[in-house]
This record gives sequence, C-alpha cells and structure tokens, in this order.
Amino acid sequence: MPSLSEVISCLSGYDPNAVPVAQAQQIIRDVVAPVQAVEKVAIRSALDRVLAQDIVSPINVPQNDNSAMDGYAVCGGDLDTNGPTVLKVVGTVHAGGRFDGAVNQGECIRIMTGAPMPARCDTVVPQEFTEAANATAVTIPAGVVKTGDNRRLQGEDLMAGKPALFKGKCLRPADLGLLASLGFAEVPVQRRLRVAFFSTGDELRSIGEPLDAGCVYDSNRYTLYGMLTRLGCDIVDMGVIRDDPSSLEQAFRTACENADAVITSGGVSVGEADYTKQMMATLGDVTFWKIGMRPGRPMAFGKISSNGRSAYLFGLPGNPVAVMVTFYFFARQALLRMMGADDTPLPLMRAVSESAIRKKPGRTEYQRGILTVGEDGLQRVRITGAQGSGILRSMSEANCMVVLHHEQGSVNAGDPVDVLLFEGLV
Ligand code: AMP
Ligand code: MG
Repeated sequence: MPSLSEVISCLSGYDPNAVPVAQAQQIIRDVVAPVQAVEKVAIRSALDRVLAQDIVSPINVPQNDNSAMDGYAVCGGDLDTNGPTVLKVVGTVHAGGRFDGAVNQGECIRIMTGAPMPARCDTVVPQEFTEAANATAVTIPAGVVKTGDNRRLQGEDLMAGKPALFKGKCLRPADLGLLASLGFAEVPVQRRLRVAFFSTGDELRSIGEPLDAGCVYDSNRYTLYGMLTRLGCDIVDMGVIRDDPSSLEQAFRTACENADAVITSGGVSVGEADYTKQMMATLGDVTFWKIGMRPGRPMAFGKISSNGRSAYLFGLPGNPVAVMVTFYFFARQALLRMMGADDTPLPLMRAVSESAIRKKPGRTEYQRGILTVGEDGLQRVRITGAQGSGILRSMSEANCMVVLHHEQGSVNAGDPVDVLLFEGLV
C-alpha cells in the first residue's frame, strides 16, 4: 500500500485546507489496507462477520430433480393436448424417499413436495388440477401443465464446484442458511477489527461525574461505541483525555499499540490543531484537512506508530453530529476495507424535498431528514429542525441524511434530492 505522503504527492491541485469529500474518500481508500488474519468459526457465530474466502459448493442443492408441488409426476409428452388423459397410478414417492421402478406411458406416480422425480418423469401435475383421483387412477384435463412445470432441477440453487459465496461478504441470515444447506459446520471469517477510541477536551465529563459549570457530558464515546459495535468491530474505549500534550501523546501511543485503528473526537479544530499537529509529526504520517463539507470540516487522517506497532488514525471533529457524519462518510468505509469487507458505498435514494433548502455549491452538506411515503406512494423528505453540528437531537429524530452534493446549489420545495437511509448504515 502506498503511504499517505505518496498518495497525496501524486494529486494535482491538492489543498489540505479545501479537500472535497470525494477526494478525501479516495485518499483514504488508496492508503488503507485490509488486515490479513483469518479465523474459523461455527456458522452461527459467523452472523455479521466478513467471509474470508470464497465458498465453493461441494454438492448440488438440491441433489436431484424433485417436485415443487404435491401432485402426480408424469412424462409431459404422455399428456393428451386435446382432451383429458387418464393415467394409472403405479406408486407413491414422499420427500426423503425414492421410486426406482419404471413409469411407462399411460402411468404416473403420486409425488409429494421435495420428493425426487422418478425416471422418465419430467413434470408434476399439482393435485388441485386433477380430477377423479383415487389410489389407482387419475384424470388430468388438457392444458393444465406444460412439460417441465413444477419440477425443481438438480443444482438449481447451488451447483457443485461453483462459488456459492464470495470473500468479503458480510454474512447475513440467508448466508448462514446457505452455508448450512451445503453442510458446512464452520466458516473462515476475517478476524474482528480492533478499534481504540477516546474523546479529548478539558470540558468533557464522563457519566457519573458531577457536571461542573461550563462542562458537557461526553456523548461521542457513546455514539462511536454504537456505530463501531454495529459495524462488528472489537472496541477499546479509552475514556476522556485532557487537552494536555503528554497525556494525549501517551493515549495515542497506547491506542496504536493495542488496535488496528484509532478514532479520536475533538482537538482537530483550528484553535486546537496546532499542538495535535506537532505531536503527530513525531508519531507518524498524519494530515490535517479542512474538508469541503458541513457538518464536520476539520479532520485528521493518517497512520501512527509506537513501539513497532502502527494503526490508522481518524481524528474526527468534536461536535457530536460532525463525529457521526465524518464517521459514516470517511471512517466507516475505511474500516470496512480494513475488515476485508465489501466497501461499496451505500446506495442513495431519491425523495422529494418538502421545503426549500439553501445550499452553496462547492461543499457537500449532510442535513438530517425524515423520510416518509405519502398516500400517493411518493417518498418525501423534510429536514429535522435545527441543523447545528452540536445538535445531536437532529440525528436522533432523523431517519435519513439528505446528501446535498459538492456542486449542487439551493433546492426548491418539490425538487428531488438524494437521501441516505440510516437503516443499513449501522
Ligand atoms: P473541538 O473539536 O474539540 O473544538 O470540539 C467542538 C465542540 O464539540 C465543543 O463544543 C466541544 O465541547 C464539543 N465536544 C467535543 N468532544 C465532545 C464529546 N466527546 N461529547 C460531547 N461534546 C463534545
Ligand atoms: Mg476540544
């Protein structure tokens, strides 16, 4: 992987004080490498884990052609197309059983859902389409089935020798079922990513401490806890660190010696960045950005090292909404990449804006929105009250973010806008 300095030196027109969102995302993607460590876990424990190898199907699922309905297995060519066909019932086959005898012209087999198709039979006539059925004969009206109907083919779900799941997939309930259908008891997954985080600020108090005048409770460690846990990371919560160079340096060193990635909040804004910058100069290759976005302008990104261990650093801004937005739009994708997971950006949806939104071209804005579906079936979005980057309530009330892109200008009421649903974002 190229270093941060190498990646940045190749960019033309790069200005750390005016980095467009897309450029910052690209730089992070170019620098961050997947952690190479695999472990085997029982398939139940693999839920939400990242698959570490392609899974090739060792068997056909289903093993045989079989019936999709309860009814009569026939050879489609035996059925009269102009009038009813009377067939002799020469046997019965249940799921899990088999019928090895011959089924000759004019004959059929009573068959249950999931039972293997007898030789020569290629079609199942559902029971409800038949007439005058008894133990020995059944009448099939003309035109109720076509040859091949209601037959499931061998390997139509999973074909022996073909990949069933690909490396990098985050395993969901359907995937656990799929692995079970192939008979796997265990599955190779990426080891969990370890992410250390701490909050910085002399004004921060932890829960349980008295809230001194002018202080606020530290909320960022809780939103980060939630977002990282949902992403499937192991977390190392290092608490609140005072704005003092030696405590901060010690915290950065401990974090990077114990984790794959370090996330901090606060301490990167104009007033505070200077001494953090000095410290980073000794710890590693870190750049301080002013990103063309709102909320969340200041952010630090890079790699730090201590005692032979290194970790990627995401120095997020302090404001509670800015922390979440920069996590979602920068850290999330980088962490997924480190986890060896598919990091395709989440799809944006379109919704009609209920009101006008003022927006200047030249920066990306993330406004908190509430998406609803009207009686007309159209998706509409309205912005949640005050959008200040310290107003966490706007995130809590919202169910999506309205993404106003870099070049985009103001929006009129009734215009379509892009939204990113929180559901799925973690
Ligand atoms: P900073 O980026 O450190 O200048 O912080 C910007 C704003 O975010 C200040 O008003 C801080 O008090 C607030 N802030 C910083 N960290 C936290 C935190 N962990 N929890 C709540 N608010 C915070
Ligand atoms: Mg601060």
